[in-house]
Amino acid sequence: MPHPQLITRFAPSPTGLLHLGHAWSAVLAHDLARAGGGRFLLRIEDIDTGRCRPGFTQALIEDLRWLGLGFDAPPLLQSTRREAHAAALARLAGMGLTYPCFCTRADIAQASSAPHGMPPVYPGTCRALPAEEAGRRMQREPHAMRLDVEKALALSGALSWQDALAGGVEADPAAGGDIVLARRDIGVGYMLAAVVDDGFQGISRIVRGRDLFEATHVQRLLQHLLGLEPPQYLHHALLLAEDGRRLAKRDKAETLASLRAGGMDGKALADRLRAEPPEGPDRHLPKPEVHASNMHV
Ligand code: GLU
Repeated sequence: MPHPQLITRFAPSPTGLLHLGHAWSAVLAHDLARAGGGRFLLRIEDIDTGRCRPGFTQALIEDLRWLGLGFDAPPLLQSTRREAHAAALARLAGMGLTYPCFCTRADIAQASSAPHGMPPVYPGTCRALPAEEAGRRMQREPHAMRLDVEKALALSGALSWQDALAGGVEADPAAGGDIVLARRDIGVGYMLAAVVDDGFQGISRIVRGRDLFEATHVQRLLQHLLGLEPPQYLHHALLLAEDGRRLAKRDKAETLASLRAGGMDGKALADRLRAEPPEGPDRHLPKPEVHASNMHV
């Protein structure tokens, strides 16, 4: 059954202040919903308690207001959805598709051969543990839970998804290896939490940067395994910093909060972003100027 309604979302993680790339993504998701008479929702992906800060959540809500992007329900805090995430994990475990992983980051980096700069693909070390040993170690050792992707694929068969820019895409979840469903520190992981909550919020179009294109392969598989209706996608181009690198929170890219504090007109900025086509090469936008007429003085 297709989704009855057009619903899009913006799903930032409050681990830092938002930058222009986030603003563009939010504008695209917001406008797509508005153009189709649909709804635009906000989900705060705050499961990583060590890195998320309520102050960043506050700031991003103010950023959206400043940009003139209204959302149609109170924001969903992903941290309130732990039971649903645990239930989904239990369901996959009940299907025999998960296994505990006791490897540390260092173990994985050593055992896998990822091209330089790419996250290592898990080599499957703990998949081979005898069930009895795995069960015993689970009682006393910290562990993550992983998806046995080959087993899952044997169950699902071939899958695909529709992307507004890339067209029909064959899902290739095996390329990412046995991804982490539940991290050892917080008991859940991004891939599973996002799929479960997109389903819960009834998201029918996922608009996000093409840096998350690869995540869609395995998210499509998880949707299938959990019996969720697949959304359609729009993976848009990325904005680059002046030096040509991707904007990133960790690089302290110029933040929306600083532009806001500097007196820039947020709605004018949103219009400037609307003028950019979402397809085509990643690009650098000339630094938006703060005109005297924009100043809130
Ligand atoms: N929370 C993720 C991020 O801030 C985005 C998740 C998504 O759009 O699926 O990068």
